[in-house]
Amino acid sequence: MAEPSRRALLVKEFANTLDVEAGTDRADSREGLAGWLIEMGLAAAGSIDVCESELRDFLVLRAGVRELLDAAGDPDPTLVAASDEVTRRLPMFVSLSSMLRPVVVEGEPAPEDAALDAVPAVDPATDLPRDFFFGVEAETLTADPTETAARRAMSAIAGAVATIRITGEIGRLTRCAALSCAMVFFDASKNHSRRWCSMRVCGNRAKARAYAARRREA
Ligand SMILES: [Zn+2]
Repeated sequence: MAEPSRRALLVKEFANTLDVEAGTDRADSREGLAGWLIEMGLAAAGSIDVCESELRDFLVLRAGVRELLDAAGDPDPTLVAASDEVTRRLPMFVSLSSMLRPVVVEGEPAPEDAALDAVPAVDPATDLPRDFFFGVEAETLTADPTETAARRAMSAIAGAVATIRITGEIGRLTRCAALSCAMVFFDASKNHSRRWCSMRVCGNRAKARAYAARRREA
């Protein structure tokens, strides 16, 4: 069974800050979103203040991500395009100087000379472990350290989406096809073709509805 990478987990958790079934939203206020970012390790406690426009941008980005993961494969292009307007303004850059360092493959021990010149585990600009941003590539794709904590966190999320798209892992993240649920889940099955978060609950509900509809027609 495939295990989700940290980045896939981050994208999933971000999408699921909205819980359709429970009617709750972790990002329904600036404080709520800041609390979630701290919980996820994307911001240090006491160092983040999400402003109104940042909150709006997070919500637009989230709507785009949730559409992208639509189980029916029929995402609303308007919502996805709106999230592009947010991501195009994100302060991210590709650091070639970080590429002078040896490549370390996730899950494998670092080569001996890598330890000598390893990227510091903690980002001096934020005091946060770099892992939370872009993983072992550390600063290859990075957020501008002069930006606000909220915008750096937004960059980390967008960077995670881009990375799992490149690795193909995004194909395992799916929004449940049941509209009353719409939870994003990680599909560990071999051909990753699951449509519902849970066959027992959402899948069976959908089948029962389809059965009832067929009976009405008959
Ligand atoms: Zn579901």
